[in-house]
Amino acid sequence: MTRDSERILAPAATVPFFDLRSSHEPVAGPILEEIASLIQAGAFTNGPQVAAFELEFAGWCGAEHCVGLASGLDALRLALFALGIGAGDEVVVPANTFAATLEAVTQVGATPVLVDATEADYNLDVDAAEAAVTPRTRALLPVHLYGQMADMQSVRRLADKHDLAVLEDACQAHGAMRDDVQAGTAGDAAAFSFYPAKNLGAFGDAGALVTKDHELDETVRALREHGQRAKYLHDLQGYTARLDTIQAIVLSHKLPYLRDWNEERRTIAGLYLEGLSDIEEIRLPPVAAGSEPVWHLFVIRTRNPESMATHLREQGIGTGRHYPYPVHLMPAFTSLGHHAGDFPIAEAIASECLSLPLFPGMTQGQAETVIEAIRQYTSRG
Ligand SMILES: *Cc1c(COP(=O)(O)O)cnc(C)c1O
Repeated sequence: MTRDSERILAPAATVPFFDLRSSHEPVAGPILEEIASLIQAGAFTNGPQVAAFELEFAGWCGAEHCVGLASGLDALRLALFALGIGAGDEVVVPANTFAATLEAVTQVGATPVLVDATEADYNLDVDAAEAAVTPRTRALLPVHLYGQMADMQSVRRLADKHDLAVLEDACQAHGAMRDDVQAGTAGDAAAFSFYPAKNLGAFGDAGALVTKDHELDETVRALREHGQRAKYLHDLQGYTARLDTIQAIVLSHKLPYLRDWNEERRTIAGLYLEGLSDIEEIRLPPVAAGSEPVWHLFVIRTRNPESMATHLREQGIGTGRHYPYPVHLMPAFTSLGHHAGDFPIAEAIASECLSLPLFPGMTQGQAETVIEAIRQYTSRG
């Protein structure tokens, strides 16, 4: 194949949906060095780096306690367990979320009671949540989806009125703010995921629970390690759900960059909001008053997202869909007994959503390439 024909076939510019390489550049060397020392020291679980990261991340969130865990799902599930939520209890959950939010509830034996999203922020509709409260309701589980916090002032009011616990699913919202409160400090406890693609990502699976409640911290600390309060003293039946030392090392080296990385995400999101504002065929992500999202995802809505994705792919631009199937209509959750039409806003988001490329290190030029390609697609009708 000649160079010319390659040039014809290859897109002029490539914008991946997501690329971690540039954010790893400054941290890779120091991480490898510390992992080399860990191999010598051998404390692969419960190494001193785990406690060090917990202290750093609690401080970063402005929370009192942090328990390092193996995943975001573990953080949600162990928190519910530690709150004493189980069989016969109901937990109010938004219908517009990732499956893990529901899994946490069902896996402690409780029932997720779904409510629709609001168009104001695509998160929990608190009025709908109030209507869903029953005498069995024990907790509210708002999700800060796509990096924007739910309306936690209203969530708190509702929780206080009915004496409910509030667990934040902050797995997509490291550093997000709303009404001057940071994700992780607006509820009784908050679950974070450090899955590699999250705003703060490990080199594998990891998570954390953040809380101001000392007792909750102690219980989850025991639950993550077979229910042990002290070595071989089992108060509870627990799990293997520790944060690995190696992941704590990675996270400690990356945490100092997280504010800057979130700022870079905000810059790209700002370019999209500006550059796409006049296109009628797409709906830009809503930002509620007083809300400062960290743009885990930039989700636009359009009538035919698959067709737009194909056009963008032909231009060398990657996209994602978060999430194409509403959780309440998926085979895993048929036991909840929902039908199409139950949550119209969540269902509309599912059928119309398209996530644009967005990652720290993405250039202004790349954002302009995406904007140009969308303009081209929408203008051809
Ligand atoms: C990623 C995510 C989780 C689960 O995190 P894992 O670390 O993959 O277990 C839960 N809820 C939401 C909204 C997420 O995005």
